[in-house]
Amino acid sequence: MKIGFIGLGNMGAPMAANLAKAGHNVTGFDVAGTTAQGVAQASSAEEAARDQDVVITMLPNGDILRGVAQTVLPAMRAGATLIDCSTVDVDSARAVASRAQDAGILSVDAPVSGGIGGAAAGTLTFMAGGSAEAFARAEPLFDIMGQKAVHCGEAGAGQAAKICNNMILGVTMIATCEAFALADKLGLDRQKMFDVVSTSSGYSWTMNAYCPAPGVGPNSPADNDYQPGFAAELMLKDLGLSQQAAEAANADTPMGQAALALYKTFVEDEDGEGRDFSAMLPRFENRTRT
Ligand code: NAD
Repeated sequence: MKIGFIGLGNMGAPMAANLAKAGHNVTGFDVAGTTAQGVAQASSAEEAARDQDVVITMLPNGDILRGVAQTVLPAMRAGATLIDCSTVDVDSARAVASRAQDAGILSVDAPVSGGIGGAAAGTLTFMAGGSAEAFARAEPLFDIMGQKAVHCGEAGAGQAAKICNNMILGVTMIATCEAFALADKLGLDRQKMFDVVSTSSGYSWTMNAYCPAPGVGPNSPADNDYQPGFAAELMLKDLGLSQQAAEAANADTPMGQAALALYKTFVEDEDGEGRDFSAMLPRFENRTRT
């Protein structure tokens, strides 16, 4: 396939390189001038998108996606497919899908889970929104860049699944960290806490697979001085998107709201920026009730 890839950052560059390695003809563009292995470089987004079978975007946010879509869609040929893998707000995903439809272009919103490691290894999970036809076109590429792709529904459904998942993740990480900090103050050994909770009704992915306590449970960013992993500011972004969506849909999400407020303080007023999102544990450790 002839593929245009726009946004060759931490995630986009290894994803584009994996497509090229699999034998696809990939042309990339990034405003920062970054490149990816095996990928031809275009001098504009428009040039990267022209005459391609598929155009993939991997960009920082919804405003940038809307801007890029505005220049890229008119350059694409009718019947081609646009796949956006960025994490953006549901409204932007739907707006881009609607513009694509008007231009006779198939589109899929397909945010990913799995991080930079998953992008490099080709083991991402894709959660996709769009028509069955658009998903079918994108699926062979998801198979190269990832290990699982779920077709979640119509346009925007991929972004909806992503932000609901990450709202659970943020809330659960905070709950796990505050419980560890309470256990400390009650004199409970952290390993014992893990042994009980990981096999009891308080178990979760954050406890069992990504334990925020160093030296306890499987290897995680906590064992590497909380180097990310998944940075606290990325969690803050995703919690912000969940609350933006909750407001638009008039959904009551008090825990998501509280998690957003905590990560906002952690990233903007404390030492959270650049640290893994599990560094909430040392934050709680150093605090008292008042
Ligand atoms: P990044 O900042 O490393 O990459 C984004 C790239 O887009 C940058 O290289 C930037 O120069 C480029 N860009 C910005 N505006 C552009 C434009 N107008 N035209 C062309 N290129 C432009 O970010 P990332 O970590 O690669 O993340 C990309 C997306 O994936 C984000 O939406 C993020 O939320 C999501 N995501 C990231 C991770 C992660 O662990 N990093 C995990 C899952 C999802």
